[in-house]
Amino acid sequence: MTNKIELIGLTKSQLAACLHEMGEPAFRVKQIWQWVYFYGKTDFNEMTNLSKTLRQKLAERFILSRPKVIAEQLSTDKTRKWLLEFADGEKIETVYIPESDRGAVCISTQIGCAMGCRFCHTGSQKLTRNLTAGEIVSQFMLARDVYKEWNLEGEKRMLSNIVLMGMGEPLQNYENVVKAVEILTDGEGIAISKRRITLSTSGIIPHIRDIDRDMGVKLAVSLHASNNEQRSEIMPINKKYPLPQLLEACRDYQTNHGGYITFEYLMLNGFNDTMTNADELAALMKKYNINAKFNLIAFNPWPGCHYQPSSNNRIHAFSQKLQDYGFAAPIRTARGQDILAACGQLKSKKKEVDSE
Ligand code: SAH
Ligand code: SF4
Repeated sequence: MTNKIELIGLTKSQLAACLHEMGEPAFRVKQIWQWVYFYGKTDFNEMTNLSKTLRQKLAERFILSRPKVIAEQLSTDKTRKWLLEFADGEKIETVYIPESDRGAVCISTQIGCAMGCRFCHTGSQKLTRNLTAGEIVSQFMLARDVYKEWNLEGEKRMLSNIVLMGMGEPLQNYENVVKAVEILTDGEGIAISKRRITLSTSGIIPHIRDIDRDMGVKLAVSLHASNNEQRSEIMPINKKYPLPQLLEACRDYQTNHGGYITFEYLMLNGFNDTMTNADELAALMKKYNINAKFNLIAFNPWPGCHYQPSSNNRIHAFSQKLQDYGFAAPIRTARGQDILAACGQLKSKKKEVDSE
């Protein structure tokens, strides 16, 4: 067995400590960091401003890996999805979602998820383990490999944004997500601005209160219901962190951060898509004094889930009602539907195929 360390996922100060231990001067940190995170090199031999001896020493001490691509699918709408495997054989999904000009890479943070939301396929798969900071960062690095976007000016990149909205609950893997964000936003490397990273959470209140201090990324909250009882019915986490307290935490975040809070709202037919639900949402935002934007998401049904997507007419009426109240309420059509680019579906499909 090798006792090499995975370099990807070490913060700059951790890398500095390792190099110091190897007797290297401090300026090596920046050189190596740039090769790895600006030029995207995976071979120490290509780091041409380092001596041959040092390259060899680094190769003996570290590995620079990418997750293995098990499957790749390109949708007719250009959404691209990868099923990726890590060293221990666990698999996750990463998705690139092009928007009108550029696009976002949707990254996973856990293998499975412990939150058990009733409408979510990942939630039905239980939590196997957290991803390491390196595994989180390397999903984006793999996407950069595929789109050949290393060593490019910010404005020229197609992969302009990151959303922590893949499999898993990012705030349940807090420390690693904080580290991953630190690496992804480092100006000498990958250099994605904090303003271009959105973290989506089911509502882990204590950590919502820490986001600004530790990461400064944009917050999106999966709301999906317009009152406490209904939210508890579909999201077990609501029993621990109830809606009123969640909205108080959102308001406090907004007070510190400014701007608006994005609420994701899945449109579940006959469950949360009536005009009464829209009225309730508006009343809640008024009560808690929140400047909200609602992303209305088309529900992706999966076998075994008894919820159904709302019809287009109902989604439009709901959106209109929220707009009449003065909220932005864009409708998010399911992207990449032909390749099941939502929430654990490729992974599970692959499992079915494997076991056939
Ligand atoms: N755990 C975090 C982030 C990952 S889930 C969270 O819950 O916010 C990312 C988004 O996908 C969430 O808004 C989630 O509610 C939504 N989602 C889950 N299952 C879905 C489905 N079947 N169809 C469409 N969106 C779904
Ligand atoms: Fe986990 Fe998010 Fe799915 Fe809920 S919606 S089970 S929090 S991944």
